[in-house]
Amino acid sequence: MLKTIAMLVFWLVQVSALLVLVVPFSAGYIGLWAVSHFLRAIGLTLAFHRYFAHRAFQMNRAARFFWTFVGTAAMQKGPLWWAGHHVNHHRFADREGDPHSPMVSGVYYAHIGWFLNDAKHNVIEASNPVIRDFSKAPEIVWLDRFFFVPPIMLAAAMYLAGGMPWLVWGFCLPTVTLAHATFAINTVNHLFGSRRFETIDESRNNIITALFAAGEGWHNNHHRYQRAARNGFYWWEFDPTWYTIRLMQGLGLAWDVQPVPARIYAEARASRARRVRRTAPSVLEPGPIGLELAEDAE
Ligand SMILES: [Zn+2]
Ligand SMILES: [Zn+2]
Repeated sequence: MLKTIAMLVFWLVQVSALLVLVVPFSAGYIGLWAVSHFLRAIGLTLAFHRYFAHRAFQMNRAARFFWTFVGTAAMQKGPLWWAGHHVNHHRFADREGDPHSPMVSGVYYAHIGWFLNDAKHNVIEASNPVIRDFSKAPEIVWLDRFFFVPPIMLAAAMYLAGGMPWLVWGFCLPTVTLAHATFAINTVNHLFGSRRFETIDESRNNIITALFAAGEGWHNNHHRYQRAARNGFYWWEFDPTWYTIRLMQGLGLAWDVQPVPARIYAEARASRARRVRRTAPSVLEPGPIGLELAEDAE
C-alpha cells in the first residue's frame, strides 16, 4: 500500500514538471529552477554521497544536519537508504549485487526501477557501514524515516512564496531534473564517456552529467578513488560540490578533507601516456613494429 502511494507520488511529480508549459513564464523563474536544482544537488552529493557513503571529510553536527536536510528535500528517499545503496553499488560495481547497474539489470531498472520498486536490495543490511555508524545520530535517523517532510516543506514554501509558478519552477521541474541528473550517474556514467582509469567496472567520465549533477559526472575518477572529497581530479573538471567543501574547510566547517593521493595522479599520467602511444601509429609512420621496438627499448 505505502509502496503504491510512493510510486504514484513519484510519477505525479514527474508529470507535474510539464506544468511549466501552462503556468505564466518569467525569465527569473530559470534562476529559481537553478537555485532549487543545484542547491539540492550539492546537498545530495556533499552529504549523502561524499560524507555518508565515502567519509571524504568531516563536518560538525549542525552543518551535517543542514546539508542532509537540503539533500533530503531532493525527494530521493532518506540519507541512510540512499548512501547504504551507494556503498553496495561500489562494492559490487556492475556485477551481481549492484543495486543499479545497466550491465546487470538493464537501463530502465538501473535508472528508475531500482529506486521505485527495488525487490532485491530495498532493505539495507545492518552491517552496511552507513547504517552501522550513522544510525546512532537521532536527527539523521529522523530524516531517514520521515524523508518526505523536507520535500513537502519545500513545496509548501514555494507555493506560499509565489503561487503556482513558484511551485512549478522552484519544486516540480527541478525535482524532476535533479532526479534524472542523479539517476544518470548510474546509467549514463556506466555507458557513455571516457575512461581515464582502467577500473574493473564500466564507470566513465562525462562532462554533461558533471554539470547537472554538481560534479558527480567524473565517475570513472570516483570509482578509481572513492575516498577523495573531489570527483573532478583537475581544476578544469567542474565540481561545485568540491568548491563548497573547500569553502567550508576555509571557514573551519569541514576538516579531514581527503585528497587524491599522488600515486593516483601518477597512475592517471601513466595511463594517458599509454593511450598516446596506442594512438601514435595512425599519426606517425613507422608502423606498429617500430613502435613495439621503441617500447622495448624503454
Ligand atoms: Zn558508479
Ligand atoms: Zn560513490
